Amino acid sequence: MLVDELKNIIDKSNNIVFFGGAGISTESGIPDFRSGNGLYNLVENKKYSPEEMLSHNFFYSHTKDFYDFYKEKMIYPKAKPNAAHIALARLEEMGKLKAVITQNIDGLHQAAGSKNVFELHGSVHRNYCISCNTFQDLDFIIKCKDTPKCPNCGGIVKPDVVLYGEGLDKDIISGAVNAIANAEVLIIGGTSLVVYPAAALIRYYQGNKLILINKSATQYDDKANLVINDSIGKVMNEIMTFDSNEKTWKTLLNL
Ligand code: ZN
Repeated sequence: MLVDELKNIIDKSNNIVFFGGAGISTESGIPDFRSGNGLYNLVENKKYSPEEMLSHNFFYSHTKDFYDFYKEKMIYPKAKPNAAHIALARLEEMGKLKAVITQNIDGLHQAAGSKNVFELHGSVHRNYCISCNTFQDLDFIIKCKDTPKCPNCGGIVKPDVVLYGEGLDKDIISGAVNAIANAEVLIIGGTSLVVYPAAALIRYYQGNKLILINKSATQYDDKANLVINDSIGKVMNEIMTFDSNEKTWKTLLNL
């Protein structure tokens, strides 16, 4: 069984890094806006494409329209971590997993308890005034009926999310590169590895335990040491299981 092989690799390592894509979030009910069935194929606004509406320029030139779209399509405050998020948080707690690198902006890894998370595209949970840099949480954004304005200075509040036309945070990139370069085991899940900067980042991996877990095949399957074409939530649920007597998630690794 492929999952047994995965369990065996995880059981033997204390230096695992996880790189995750939209597939992890879709299993928590958050649509993948880059996939074929995702948001980007919805044509709801005739005047602008979603890529335009989620761009740096659009944020500054049409802030209210940006927020109307963003609040409707990019924020899922009721989404809950699934088995994959929970298993990864447990592995970190056990000292086996060193870092989670994610392309998602929903904060579900932290909600599950993960501590060392590199959010390549930022997070909807962090928002800053563009004038005085005062922090606001997601709740603040949700409660604003109009364009979110800073209570301190009246400046526009901007989500700490990487918009089209914006560069990635250099510290986050170098942290992610460092984690990948030093990892013994690299598990890549829920991504087809076509979205920048995924493919560029995994080139830094130097080990011989590259594991790909994705529903469909990727162009990196032949470079991986283990490929599991299945749902990341399902696979990780088999690694960790819920003990209903003790009401806790337990590792199956030593069984
Ligand atoms: Zn301000």
